[in-house]
Amino acid sequence: MGYKLIIFDLDDTLYPRDTGLMQEIGHRIQVWVRDYLEVTWEEAQAVRHDYWQRYGTTLGGLMAEHQVDIQDYLTFVHDIPLHEYLAPDPALAEMLEALPLRKAIYTNATVEHGWRVLRALGVADHFDRVIGIEDVEWRNKPRRDAFERTLSHLGAAGPECIMVEDSPRNLRPAKELGLTTILVDAEPDENDVVDFVVESVLDVEKIVNGLLGLETGGSGDEGSSD
Ligand SMILES: [Mg+2]
Repeated sequence: MGYKLIIFDLDDTLYPRDTGLMQEIGHRIQVWVRDYLEVTWEEAQAVRHDYWQRYGTTLGGLMAEHQVDIQDYLTFVHDIPLHEYLAPDPALAEMLEALPLRKAIYTNATVEHGWRVLRALGVADHFDRVIGIEDVEWRNKPRRDAFERTLSHLGAAGPECIMVEDSPRNLRPAKELGLTTILVDAEPDENDVVDFVVESVLDVEKIVNGLLGLETGGSGDEGSSD
């Protein structure tokens, strides 16, 4: 089956881990949990870790175990001046322009956060669609049913898609559903089955060109393998 779509995770995938943005989101998550549960900072940290392990995200645990105001939580944790963390990335824009596939974002955050990040990076024009948590009935990666809903929204079958992610755990259900998986800037453990591992999202072009049987520009290498 031919590829028709490449799906990118958003945070810590499209931009590097060292921007501080995810750390700030994590900080705000912990503030919200501390204030909502009326616990200490350390207890809030333990709750986050427990929910991450058992439910995939803090919000997943909060929804399963408490009657939380989801919108209040999501608004609070994403209320961040993105320009303090992210700048337009012309190299990323150039790479996306060169990829001959439809492009979408699938994030555990909101659609609004997704578009804000894409605009801050100067790459919003390259994406057809952002799938956020509200589109998948508030389920989250790494739940398999969340991926199934995402594929349904995108009108694509798993084997037609490439998924790019910084979380090896989130790629397990993608792999099960037949997507080709590319892990960015992370080490898979023995339970993870990923197809490719790259250091930077900019390395995705080379992998995709290989999958599509295209040459990556500029090398002058024939690279024929038949
Ligand atoms: Mg991520």
